[in-house]
Amino acid sequence: MSTSKDSDIQPLKRRIYLLSTAFVGVVLSLSAFFYSSVMEQKQTQARIESLADERLAQLKTSISATVEIIDSVGSFFDSHENVSREQFKVFTRPVLERHPELWGIHWIPRIKGEDRADFERRLRWQGFIGQITALRAEDNSMQPAASRSEYYPVEYSEPIARNRMIIGFDASSRSQNRQAMQKILSQGMSFASTAPFAIVQDKQGSSSIIFFRPVFGPEEPSQDPQERQNNIRGFIAALVKPQIILDALALHDQQTAMQMQDITDAPLTEAAQTNLEDIKEDWLSHMLTFSAMGRHWQFRLSIHPERLDELGHRDPNRSLLVLVSGLAFTFLLIGMIRDLIRTHRLAARERDRAQSYLDTVETMIIALDKDGYISLINRKACELLGCQEQDVISQYWFSERFLSEPDQEKEEFQQLVTGGKRIHQKRYSESKIRTSQGELLLIAWHNAIQYDSNGEFTGVLSAGEDITQQRRLQALDKIRSQAMHAALKGQPLSYVLEQVLKGIEEQKPDIRGSILLLDADGQHLLSGAAPSLPEAYNNAINGVRIGEGVGSCGTAAFRNERVIVEDIQNHPYWSGFKELAASFNLGSCWSEPVRGKNGRILGTFALYHQYPAAPAPSDIELIEGSANFVSMLIEQYQTEARLIQMANTDELTSLPNRRQFMNRLEQEFARSRRYKHPMALCMLDIDHFKRVNDKYGHAVGDQVLKELAVVVQDSLRETDLPGRLGGEEFAILLPDTDTDNASLVAERIRSNLEQMRVEPGNNKTLQLTVSIGVAVLNADTPSDIQPDELLSLADHCLYFAKQNGRNQVSFIATELA
Ligand code: GH3
Ligand code: MG
Ligand code: MG
Repeated sequence: MSTSKDSDIQPLKRRIYLLSTAFVGVVLSLSAFFYSSVMEQKQTQARIESLADERLAQLKTSISATVEIIDSVGSFFDSHENVSREQFKVFTRPVLERHPELWGIHWIPRIKGEDRADFERRLRWQGFIGQITALRAEDNSMQPAASRSEYYPVEYSEPIARNRMIIGFDASSRSQNRQAMQKILSQGMSFASTAPFAIVQDKQGSSSIIFFRPVFGPEEPSQDPQERQNNIRGFIAALVKPQIILDALALHDQQTAMQMQDITDAPLTEAAQTNLEDIKEDWLSHMLTFSAMGRHWQFRLSIHPERLDELGHRDPNRSLLVLVSGLAFTFLLIGMIRDLIRTHRLAARERDRAQSYLDTVETMIIALDKDGYISLINRKACELLGCQEQDVISQYWFSERFLSEPDQEKEEFQQLVTGGKRIHQKRYSESKIRTSQGELLLIAWHNAIQYDSNGEFTGVLSAGEDITQQRRLQALDKIRSQAMHAALKGQPLSYVLEQVLKGIEEQKPDIRGSILLLDADGQHLLSGAAPSLPEAYNNAINGVRIGEGVGSCGTAAFRNERVIVEDIQNHPYWSGFKELAASFNLGSCWSEPVRGKNGRILGTFALYHQYPAAPAPSDIELIEGSANFVSMLIEQYQTEARLIQMANTDELTSLPNRRQFMNRLEQEFARSRRYKHPMALCMLDIDHFKRVNDKYGHAVGDQVLKELAVVVQDSLRETDLPGRLGGEEFAILLPDTDTDNASLVAERIRSNLEQMRVEPGNNKTLQLTVSIGVAVLNADTPSDIQPDELLSLADHCLYFAKQNGRNQVSFIATELA
């Protein structure tokens, strides 16, 4: 039986309810949680966006500041037609000091081809190499510029110490620069920059960009490209290190990374970056694009979440509240559910424990509700009923399925229902339950009747013991003690055995018992007792020779083992007796050998059914126990018979002794009188026996007596009865014998004994004679004569024979003195 109550609907419902509550709760909590998380994420995103905006604004401000510086230098040139190298230096020095991102500021005039020589001369005069140079595309080396219609060579550059090498360098010879300059001229832009690039002078290795600002002159610059091209005086170019701007923004913040890239042309080029190598997966990033100095840029901010929290303004209002309350709700619900589950589990465990306890006890336990339906059943009860718990729970108990007399028991149960507490509470009851195999078991119940607080009957809890076997044994005990009693009273064995079988048949009305006894030669079975089997069948079986395949009993006695034949008609052992059994309606026969104490077979004990039947274990016990008991009875009778025989037999000659002889004499005397048959009685005495003893010794005397008895017996009919009355005196009872026949018999005995030769050893031969006196009971005999008087008469006749010369038979009695 399973310990879990699968069939119990309530806990299942409760479990489903709890699970669905838990499910809904968890879903709600998770929703709240995820909502909070999303809110949080959104907020985080908003924070990083604003932080990125903030940083980019700062970057742009810095760039603008730089641009303004450059613009101011440009404005200076716009307003002054001639700016000396010294003026340039004075003007730019403070700017450069405040703006470390400015690697250099250059003045790049437009020099027409025809003015090249003047320009170069001026440079040389100022102490420089004095040559306009250009960047050779093939190997990036500086070469004297080829002859062209115009040049844009660097004339002034500050700080000069760092940039001396580029004085005279034609900026337009570098394509990137030329593009930026062209943009300004053709598109009317006031600023343009190059893409980031690496410059040789810079040992830090970070990128540089060059800002160009055109210088036209005192007039407002025209928007017409051609005019602009014609009016352009030169450019202020500034070499800017965006890295330095970015570093200034980052302020050594290790938990923030920034990157600025030029995305105008493919491939994009990096302008500056901070802490890019530190970015971890959990860092948050935001990317922005912007345009500046005629180019498109991308700015990316990445930040450690904690750093974001530190920098950003947290908004603890709604999302946090949702998060906290969601979490609180979740925990509350989870805790509640866990408590419920724990309580439920504890209850289930308790119930399982109780059930498993009920299942371990070897007592049937059944609970019925107030309507008589089974509400609880334990393993033992299921075992005895031969059913499964789930098949009988909720079944109606008072039905043929479970009880042999359901109606009667139902009535008693009804009294409990209607009677309330007033009625006598039946604490003990007995009922016959029916197993699934149809076997009936007697159960003794102890009932606990249950009431609710209002005293209303709610059901019965019953604990039952199977007392079938106990009752059967008690009944068998009773049968056996009755049989013993009958045996002690001297009833014949057949009667006692019949009593045993009748008692068993009363207990099991379907069966017919049979006891067969092995005869003296150990080869045949004789009827012992079979009170319920047909006489004709018993007669047919009586005297059957034991052997292999001779029915159940013949085989059991032959093999000395139990033989169970469940279906006589289809069993080889019964092939010879099939029709016989069929004619007496016998379907099965289980036979157990009856063995004596020394293992010797005494007979068989058998149980028949009128239909094919297999024995239950209790049946095997019954036939075994009964065979043992029968064995004891038979042996007892045999012992008793031996004792009786010993008490009635002369030890030396094995002839009936005086006691036995006198009993038989009395019986035959009465019979003779009743049927008016004659009867003769002989008294025999050895002549001069004293001499035999004297001459040969007492032992030889005994031998003579023994051999004499044999000769006497051989001289008689079956029905004649010899006896040794004592010493060397013998008596012979001759029933249905008149005087003439008695004379013949007595004479034959005398003669045979006269012929007898006894050899006591030593090659001697001994012979003897006897004297016989005969008394006859016949019509002439006085009616009042008694057996002992007849014997006395024969004795007197013997005495006459002695006196008359011995070795003779006498019918004449000497007168008693
Ligand atoms: P008779 O009868 O001819 O007058 O002479 P008897 O010698 O036979 O005399 P009696 O019958 O009186 O003797 C009985 C003798 O039988 C006495 C005893 O020695 C002997 N006797 C009696 N019973 C036994 C016995 O059981 N064994 C032996 N060996 N001798 C017995
Ligand atoms: Mg004698
Ligand atoms: Mg004698």
